[in-house]
Amino acid sequence: MKKLKLLLANIILAGVLVLGGCADAGDSSQSSSSKETTTQESASSEDQNTNAEDSSDDTSAQADSGNTAGSDTAGKTKAAASKAKTSAVSTSKIPKYSGSPYIKVHNNVPFFKKSDLTKKVFEKYSKLDALGRCRTAYANVCKATMPTEKRGRIGMVKPSGWHTVKYNNVDGKYLYNRCHLIGYQLTAENANESNLMTGTRYLNVDGMLPFENMVADYVKETNNHVLYRVTPIYTDENLLADGVLMEAESVEDKGKGISYCVYVYNVQPGIKIDYETGDSSAKDSRRSGQSSAKGTYIINENTNKFHKPDCRSVKMMKDKNKKTYTGKRSELINSGYEPCKNCNP
Ligand SMILES: [Zn+2]
Repeated sequence: MKKLKLLLANIILAGVLVLGGCADAGDSSQSSSSKETTTQESASSEDQNTNAEDSSDDTSAQADSGNTAGSDTAGKTKAAASKAKTSAVSTSKIPKYSGSPYIKVHNNVPFFKKSDLTKKVFEKYSKLDALGRCRTAYANVCKATMPTEKRGRIGMVKPSGWHTVKYNNVDGKYLYNRCHLIGYQLTAENANESNLMTGTRYLNVDGMLPFENMVADYVKETNNHVLYRVTPIYTDENLLADGVLMEAESVEDKGKGISYCVYVYNVQPGIKIDYETGDSSAKDSRRSGQSSAKGTYIINENTNKFHKPDCRSVKMMKDKNKKTYTGKRSELINSGYEPCKNCNP
């Protein structure tokens, strides 16, 4: 059964998943408190081949992000490894976004092993990869890891693919949030760059937050532990993740209280995103920011064009072809109507 699970894991996520059992990579310079915070090298099967090389810069400080001088070779090896690894990743195995912020994967069963279910408290944040991208964050969440003070500022962290950009049709206007892989409410990690990714507002609020809240509520109610792992998934060398895999399993009751395995899409309805760079545009670029605004248009059912009410074509239109429509322009276009080239509705 275990073998089957592992096999499935590899098939479904083709090696992106960190299946645990990796070597810890020395102390992180970022452990700011007495909490046990270690930095973890990625442990996918491909990485094991390059572990010897990787260890050479394991002790380098993370604070200045990126590789320190003299570790160029390791950096390149990592880049190559990361490329090999991500090209093996098949996000094509994951259905395209189709209206739900997340989908269950692996029958909603997290990829933890039975032996992973421990009460030992830990938090592991992977080092950024050679492209500056955050990777797996993994913790055993319990009351002791939760914050005792309010969250501080995180604006100084610029995760890979970061852009400060606003759209009118995005809740809160900003397309991107600095998304905690493991939410602040769970492990109190504030401005830890290894725990922050560029995520859409939609991923953050509609996708990840409900799962995070579920775990926080459960821990507060039961005082139990929950294994919690979040893995950003990238295509090739894209700076922006396609989505994140979220896994959680409660320890004391062996998953009775909490158990899920979901893929959350890093998308934003109405916005087109270039995942290579993080660039974006409104899907209806000619009317950026207005695609959710309603208007009144006159449709010609004969030509399948639509017009502003004061367009001269409207006056010439036969009554039987004329239809008044009030609603979103984008929906008219989605229904197959074309805007008139004279009045540019
Ligand atoms: Zn017109």
